[in-house]
Amino acid sequence: MKIIVLKFGGTSVGSLEKIVKVTKIIISYIKKKYKVIVVSSAMSGVTNELLSKTKKIAQNFPNDEKDVILSTGEQISCALIAGKLCDFGYKSRSWLGWQLPILTSGNHSSSRIVKIQKTKILNYLKKDGIPIIAGYQGINNDFRITTLERGGSDTSAILCAKFFDAEKCIIFTDVKGVYTTDPNLIKNAKKIEKISYEEMLEMASLGAKVMQPVSIQEARLNRIEIDVRSTFSKMSGTLITKKKDILSKNTIRGISFTKNDAKLTLIGVKDKPGIAALIFKPLYENSINVDMVVQNVSAGGRETDLTFTIKLEDLKKTRKLVENNRYIKFRKLIVNRNVSKVSIVGVGMVTTPGVTFRMFRALAKKKINIEVISTSEIKISVLINKKNLKKSVEILHQEFKLNNSL
Ligand code: ADP
Ligand code: ASP
Ligand code: MG
Repeated sequence: MKIIVLKFGGTSVGSLEKIVKVTKIIISYIKKKYKVIVVSSAMSGVTNELLSKTKKIAQNFPNDEKDVILSTGEQISCALIAGKLCDFGYKSRSWLGWQLPILTSGNHSSSRIVKIQKTKILNYLKKDGIPIIAGYQGINNDFRITTLERGGSDTSAILCAKFFDAEKCIIFTDVKGVYTTDPNLIKNAKKIEKISYEEMLEMASLGAKVMQPVSIQEARLNRIEIDVRSTFSKMSGTLITKKKDILSKNTIRGISFTKNDAKLTLIGVKDKPGIAALIFKPLYENSINVDMVVQNVSAGGRETDLTFTIKLEDLKKTRKLVENNRYIKFRKLIVNRNVSKVSIVGVGMVTTPGVTFRMFRALAKKKINIEVISTSEIKISVLINKKNLKKSVEILHQEFKLNNSL
């Protein structure tokens, strides 16, 4: 069987008219003699609306019930797609995570797919049916409904491609592919023809929402090529593939950024072994992700300042945990909610000297202050004031000649 997985994102199924458009795309692949498996996200905005209901009704809404609610958005879009395909004379039906089942492990709201039972779908495909599978969801060992991380229908699609041994996986979204940076922020961002799993993973993890990071990890692990393209244009998209299949002159492939970060600085922390661990333990226990960390050298060897960043949405909880942590002492806690992280990404950086210097020089020329720095082999991230975000991305886009890249 020549199987193809087509995934449609929130904007692509964002209205009834758009869903009709989506069904026509699906039919075009049926006409090319593919056995089509569709994975859909919820209509745009729906998951956020559901989430806000849980926040409004209770301060501590339980995570397992939250997943039951959040997973309902996909039920609507999948039924609408299947219903319209039937209306066009095709055999189609929706499948929710528990109906296959899609088995997951791990915590609620960040579960991982471990297995997809194939029998029902394979039988349905043999009878020329078009299954529409709800993305972003599954069930766990206790038969509770689970969701993956936000944006997780990308991961559902990649794992469908893996378990059903699909020939291709196409991610249909609202932009024409993966760009050098978010085309909705920087108008002269360029579409990238091919990008390696490594670079895409880094760009996604550092804020490029176009692909969910876990989906890229899974694709890399299982060597699944991904074609990212637009639902609203026939133009070719971006291929996410192995490094060795890519020829690129550019040292830097792209720039990612996050808008909603917060920076916390603990002034006058005791400088002795184990202190950092004591600060971060309760954050870890409450599933709060700490991103950048810097510790100053202490002048007298007794006290130091420790700075770290988190997501802005975790600030209230983090602040409470730090202030109520009776195992640590500090003189003052300074919080800054107006920070953004900008990162340049490229595998070429390992072998090219001077990238860090060029990045810092470009920002300095425009008087943009760098608050925190972190690096890995293929990325450099800097924390800056949020008001300078667009300017910084523009400057770096120019500095690394991404306007001309393909
Ligand atoms: P979907 O609903 O189809 O899953 P998302 O909203 O999750 O779509 O992701 C698409 C969005 O990702 C785009 O509208 C764009 O604003 C954003 N984006 C961020 N960085 C990039 C990038 N480097 N290339 C393309 N899009 C990007
Ligand atoms: N609907 C889910 C979300 O908004 C999953 C997805 O869009 O991929 O996060
Ligand atoms: Mg998405």
